[in-house]
Amino acid sequence: MDILRGIAVTPGVAIGEAMILEAADYRIPYRTVADDEVEEELARLDAAFEKSIAGVIEQAEWLNANLGRDAARVFDWHVGVLKDPQLRKNIETLVSEHKVSAAHAVSDVMRNYQRRFMQMTDPLLVERIRDVQDIERRLLRHTLGDQTEDLAHLKEPVILVAHDLTPTQTAQLAATKVAAVALDSGAATSHTAILLRSWGRPGVIGLSDFSTRVSAGDTVIIDATNQLVIANPNRETLQEYEGRAARFGELEHELDEMASLPATTCDGEEIQLFCNVEFPHEASIGAAKGAAGIGLYRTEFLFLRPEGAPSEDEQYEAYCEAIDGANGGTVTIRTFDLGADKYTQQRSYEQERNPMLGLRSIRYSLQNLDMFKDQLRAILRASGRGQLRLMFPLISSLMEFRQAKMTVYDAMEDLEEEGIAVARDIPIGMMLETPSAAIQIKEFCREVNFVSIGTNDLIQYLLAVDRGNERVSQFYTPSHPAVLRVLRDVVKTCTRSGVSCSLCGEMAGQPLYTVFLLGIGLRELSMAPANIPEVKKLIRLVSIPQTQRIARRALSFDTERQVTNYLRDETRKLLPDDPI
Ligand code: PEP
Ligand code: MG
Repeated sequence: MDILRGIAVTPGVAIGEAMILEAADYRIPYRTVADDEVEEELARLDAAFEKSIAGVIEQAEWLNANLGRDAARVFDWHVGVLKDPQLRKNIETLVSEHKVSAAHAVSDVMRNYQRRFMQMTDPLLVERIRDVQDIERRLLRHTLGDQTEDLAHLKEPVILVAHDLTPTQTAQLAATKVAAVALDSGAATSHTAILLRSWGRPGVIGLSDFSTRVSAGDTVIIDATNQLVIANPNRETLQEYEGRAARFGELEHELDEMASLPATTCDGEEIQLFCNVEFPHEASIGAAKGAAGIGLYRTEFLFLRPEGAPSEDEQYEAYCEAIDGANGGTVTIRTFDLGADKYTQQRSYEQERNPMLGLRSIRYSLQNLDMFKDQLRAILRASGRGQLRLMFPLISSLMEFRQAKMTVYDAMEDLEEEGIAVARDIPIGMMLETPSAAIQIKEFCREVNFVSIGTNDLIQYLLAVDRGNERVSQFYTPSHPAVLRVLRDVVKTCTRSGVSCSLCGEMAGQPLYTVFLLGIGLRELSMAPANIPEVKKLIRLVSIPQTQRIARRALSFDTERQVTNYLRDETRKLLPDDPI
C-alpha cells in the first residue's frame, strides 16, 4: 500500500483502476492476453526493441556528426539500457508467464526501474530518471504503434494518473468516464486545478512522483477530502473507503438540496453567490447549483483550443450562450487573461524569463489591440442580451485602466458607426490582483464601476510565491496575516466609496474562509459551481455580528498557522459533520 499526500482540488472519494496518461498521451491499459496471443505480444516486443535501438543509434550518430561526441554520449547509455538482457527478460517474463500485454509489461518494468533510480542518493544517478522515462516512451511508442486509446472512448470509469495535464486535456475530461484525477504537478490555484474544480469530480494534485509509483490497472483510492491518494490498498482500507465513498454520496445529495434555498445569514443579510466559469455551457451548471449569475467568466479559455484564437463571431456566440445559461442573472465577463502559463509563451519568438511578471493579462491585451478590440466588439454586441458587466484582469495602474476603458469606447463607436446597438452604460470594472492596485484602491474607486478581488493572483504577488509551483505551495496561503489585512482594507475602502466589491479567487469557494469574508464586509462571492452548496450552507448558519467577531479575531494573529487553526476550529463548530 502506497499513501501520498497532495493538494485537493475538489473534495470527494473515488476508488478505481489507474489509467496512466503519459506526457506523450499514451494510455497503457492493463490488459491480459489469451494463451495463443502470447507469441504475438513477444514478437511485438522484439520489434519494439529493435526499432528503439535503431532509433537511438541513429539519433546518437546525428548528434555525433553535428554536435560532437559529448552530446551523443547520453544516448550510448540509452542503448546500454535497451540492450540489457535482464531488463528484456523481466519484460518478456511478464508477458509469457503473467500473460499481460506487451505495452503493460514495458510500462510496469520501466516504472520499477525508475523507482530504483529515485531511491539513489547520487544526484547524477537521480537525473537518469528522465532518461529512463524517455526510454519507456520510445519503447511504448513502438509497442503500441497507433493503438493509443482515446480518453473519450473509455468504457469503464477509471482514475486518471498523470504527471501533468495541459488545460486543453483537462477541459476534455468532461466528455469522458474519468472518475477522479491524481497529478504529480500543480498547485491549488494553477489553471489546471481551476479547470479540475469546474469539472467537479475528485482530484488531488501536487503529488510529486505518484505517476511513477503506480502501474496501469492498479487499484487507486482518491481521498480528496483528506488530500490523500492510496495505491494498492489492503482489503481493510478498501472496505473502509467503500463506506466513505457511500457516505460522501449522501452528503453531496444533502448539499444539492441547498440549490433552491436563499444564501441568507440567520439574521437576514442576503449574500450574492455567483459562479466562476471557463466555458459558456457551465453557466447553466452554475444556475442549477443555485448561482445568482456569473461572477467571473474566464474568456481566455476560448483561445486555448487546437484551432487557435476564436473569431469575433465565435466569441459573440459564446457570450450569448453564457448569458442565456445564466437565466437572467448578471454575467461578468473578464477580458482575456492570456500570458503567463496560458497561450502566449508557445507563440512568442522568445520565451519570457519570468512570465508571471511578464506580458500577461491586460498588458498583453493593450499590446495586441486588434485581438483585444475583436473581443470587446463581441462582448458589446452581446451587451443588450442580458445583464452584462465587463472587467479587466491584472490592473496595476490607473493609466492602464483608463487605456483599457478608452479601447472599450473606441469599440463602441466603431459598432455604432456600423449601426450596431450597444449598451453604452455597461458597467466596467477591474480585477484587483496586484499589490499596487490594493494600495491605490481609493483612487481606483473614483473610476471603476465595480471591483472583483482575484485572490489567486493577489496572494501570489503579495507573498512572492508562484501560484502554480508545487515546490513552494507551502508558502502560498490565504491565511497569511498580510493577505487578510489587505482584503479588509480593500473591502472597507470600496464600501465607503459605494463601489460594489466581490471576491472571485479560489478562496471564495473555501468554506474555511467564508465566515471571515462576510465578517470583513463582503456580500458577493464568486466560486466554482461545485463549491456553492457548502458555502451557502455555512452562510445560513451564521449571523453578521458573529462573522464580524470571528474576522476581528482572525485579524489579530501574527502567523498563518494561527489563522488557519482558528478559522478551522470556528468552521468545525458550525459544520461539525462536514469535511473541511
Ligand atoms: C484570481 O487571480 O484570483 C482570479 C480569479 O483569476 P485567475 O485565477 O483566472 O487568474
Ligand atoms: Mg487572476
